[in-house]
Amino acid sequence: MKIIGLIGGMSWESSAEYYKIINEEIKKRLGGLHSAKCLLYSVDFEEIERFQTQGEWENAGEKLGDAASSLEKAGAEFILICTNTMHKVVDAIQSKINIPILHIADATAEQINKQEITNIGLLGTRYTMEQDFYKSRIESKGINVIVPEAEEREIVNKIIFDELCLGKIHQESREYYKRIIQNLIISGAQGIILGCTEIGLLIKPGDSEVPLFDTTHIHALEAVNLSLKN
Ligand code: GLU
Repeated sequence: MKIIGLIGGMSWESSAEYYKIINEEIKKRLGGLHSAKCLLYSVDFEEIERFQTQGEWENAGEKLGDAASSLEKAGAEFILICTNTMHKVVDAIQSKINIPILHIADATAEQINKQEITNIGLLGTRYTMEQDFYKSRIESKGINVIVPEAEEREIVNKIIFDELCLGKIHQESREYYKRIIQNLIISGAQGIILGCTEIGLLIKPGDSEVPLFDTTHIHALEAVNLSLKN
């Protein structure tokens, strides 16, 4: 079993899900008392979120690169960045280490392609929905990405930072997300990427008529695959 290095804390609410999913999957596959060999470097999200809002992506990359380097020194054999948004600085992080990073968008695109879906709706932070770093990675795999309208994006983003990252799960917000998913379907989406690692805390498979691609689940399961690969 390879040692998984997790850069988490963005937010810790979703990192806890990663830890749980990875361990449950290892137990399911190996049985007995087996559990995952993993290391978690959990950052202070307040610091990272400040870098985001101030556009200080270089500083964010530096900080997360240091976290990745610590994980490598501690014995991690590959790295997961447990947030979609911070894949914006994946190259800066990779430049500080000699072990691979398992990219969340690549793992997600692979699952979308398996279901032969060519038009996908994307929900995430405003950075993920509006900037190019994430959409282009999905689109490079032959998948067309559809994002919500500007006003909807603002509310989707606000719910992530003001509620989900603080562990607040509100029915009203779930209904709002469901309406946005419906609008994406009307715009042609055949599936929806839950492209923020906290959205799965709010939205479950029964909340959508089309397949949901929960990036936390997909990323965590792919980590198990890689960990157990010879
Ligand atoms: N966990 C979220 C994501 O997957 C948002 C937190 C962040 O900005 O890193 O994008």
